[in-house]
Amino acid sequence: MQFVLIDVIRVMKIIPLSEGSFTIDKTKLFVPFDEAQHVLNERPVGSLLVEIQPFVVITSKDVLLLDTGLGFNDNKEGRMQLLTNLEKAGVKPEQVTKVLMSHLHKDHAGGVSLENNHGSLSLPNADYYVQKRELDFALEKGLPSFIPDEINILVNSPRVKLLHDEEGAIDDYIAYRHTGAHSLHHQVFWIRENNEIIFFGGDDAPQLQHMKVRYKTKYDHDPDKAMQLRQLWWQQGNEEGWTFLFYHDIKSPVWKHVK
Ligand SMILES: [Zn+2]
Repeated sequence: MQFVLIDVIRVMKIIPLSEGSFTIDKTKLFVPFDEAQHVLNERPVGSLLVEIQPFVVITSKDVLLLDTGLGFNDNKEGRMQLLTNLEKAGVKPEQVTKVLMSHLHKDHAGGVSLENNHGSLSLPNADYYVQKRELDFALEKGLPSFIPDEINILVNSPRVKLLHDEEGAIDDYIAYRHTGAHSLHHQVFWIRENNEIIFFGGDDAPQLQHMKVRYKTKYDHDPDKAMQLRQLWWQQGNEEGWTFLFYHDIKSPVWKHVK
């Protein structure tokens, strides 16, 4: 009799938590976009149409949340859309163990705190990983890109782990790097487990299309650097088989190059 040993390799589970499509113009307000009612060409010139979607990544050690969405309320449920979306995906808010923040613009950090006076963190058992310089800058700069009331809690909460370095590791399997490309102190993350690499570039790498073509934007803090980084990551990611997570991509939130 012959026995065949099968190695069961756990694959990290990725769940996009879509908050919907939004149009944004120079007023920097995110307005829900309803395809059935609105016409793309009737929006102000220069408007962008973007998806907003935080991600859950379930590894063997953690339930990770990557950025926290707009923090808008789900009117039907009467609570934050982020929390409703988590539950719909089968994840209880208490189960999230780490929140990784790419940067603190309001479309990424709106869900950091609970809406009633923003006095508590939204994920009660999670550690929040935030770049210290981004937090200082966001609080100093304020509106319209940052909402200090929503993120003030990050300053003194014992659950917040402020990151100070250019690059480093979180629990040996998550790497972060400060880029300063999209925002002055933006950071990106790699999550590595069982030969799998998930890359979360936040707004340095917001959509698949921005990776494929040389694309310089008006809204990046350092457009040249952002474009160069995207090209570098795209090349390296395809060589090494990274899975890319695109926070603002309507069609392809999760993308992996198949060899
Ligand atoms: Zn964004």
